[in-house]
Amino acid sequence: MSIKENVNQILKELPSYVQLVGAAKTRTPQEIQEAARAGIKIIGENYVQEAEEALQVVGHRVKWHFIGHLQRNKAKKAVRIFDVIETVDSLKIAKEINKQCARIGKVMPVLIEINSGREEQKYGIYPEDTEEFASSLGKFNNIHVHGLMTMGPFTGNPENARPYFQETKKIFDKLNSKNLPRIEMKILSMGMTNSYKVAVQEGANMVRIGTKIFGIREYE
Ligand SMILES: *Cc1c(COP(=O)(O)O)cnc(C)c1O
Repeated sequence: MSIKENVNQILKELPSYVQLVGAAKTRTPQEIQEAARAGIKIIGENYVQEAEEALQVVGHRVKWHFIGHLQRNKAKKAVRIFDVIETVDSLKIAKEINKQCARIGKVMPVLIEINSGREEQKYGIYPEDTEEFASSLGKFNNIHVHGLMTMGPFTGNPENARPYFQETKKIFDKLNSKNLPRIEMKILSMGMTNSYKVAVQEGANMVRIGTKIFGIREYE
């Protein structure tokens, strides 16, 4: 199946309130362009450099979301390129994003990345620390928290991801009810190719799909 057919198929089956992010790591600007022409409105990039190259070809017909791990020395470039940063996972990076945004007069919508599986090798805030972390972001005038993102442990069986999506949704609802300053719980980004259907059942309103759109990745 072509990228176009894949995108059409996914868009057809997703509920209309669920936003589709095309996770584009390792894909060429031409492949991303094809996805954009097929109706993808958001592209997720893990690497600032790849995004920069793709942006030159595809432009702003799509929104650009950062979904990788942001290093501090890339924040300056990232805040110019991206419309949303989905992976804020430390005060250090939040502070740097805030600083770089202040320099260019931008307020960056961000998601807090939750390490819902409490996996040592993964990035993200542990569920039990999220509320305190979210509160501490309130002091940054140039970032605005719009929701949560999680990966969850990868096991191959999407059912195994369900409890982690449920836990993340619980945090989402709890934070939503707190009405913290500059924190708005609008976006819950969870689910990838093998788990997005379960994620939507558990309350995701944004899914990040790579393989099912672009095919199997040959390298990471
Ligand atoms: C690669 C990636 C995805 C998409 O993964 P697929 O299994 O190819 O759909 C989603 N989210 C993040 C953060 C990724 O790095």
